[in-house]
Amino acid sequence: MSSDDPLGKYKEKRDFTETPEPKGETFPKSGELIYVIQKHAARNLHYDLRLENNGVLKSWAIPKGPSLDPKVKRLAIPTEDHPMGYADFEGVIPPGNYGAGTVIVWDWGSFRNMKGDTVALSDSLDEGHATVELLGEKLRGGYALIRVKGKSPRWLFFKMKDEHAVSGSDILEESPNSVKSGKSLEQVAEQWPAELEDFS
Ligand code: MN
Repeated sequence: MSSDDPLGKYKEKRDFTETPEPKGETFPKSGELIYVIQKHAARNLHYDLRLENNGVLKSWAIPKGPSLDPKVKRLAIPTEDHPMGYADFEGVIPPGNYGAGTVIVWDWGSFRNMKGDTVALSDSLDEGHATVELLGEKLRGGYALIRVKGKSPRWLFFKMKDEHAVSGSDILEESPNSVKSGKSLEQVAEQWPAELEDFS
């Protein structure tokens, strides 16, 4: 695997004869930058935040999920860059594969770098402090990603104070299902075995 392949880690972790996940092409995209959060019932339920940067999706696993309450700061653990085609992936990663479990598209839309439309997200991330305006169906307005000093890379992800902030709300409880299909994790898991028969 070429070390300059931005999706090298993504491809190394997966056997595409086994998993229905996208194979990982990169491509430049014009226009709005993709924002997505996938809800992933792997060994532990978590939420995967992905933000488009340079033809791939920068990714973080958020164990406790996002919040609309600026007082609630959530741990976000960086994971490997994902292909752009992952943004609308919803389905079941079969047992024995990396990340085995059900994935739904919990929120999607676009985002802007609040440091400026011409500032690359990766430059903000290199500085350890990114602020983005999310234009999703569930999450809207300013969110911050702040790197925490320590041995392993960890970030905090939280709502900034603006008109979209809601203190005391639990968006995960209020709005648990997919924005793509309207389905719950359980409904996607149930539907998948039938679809798998066509997957050869
Ligand atoms: Mn995940």
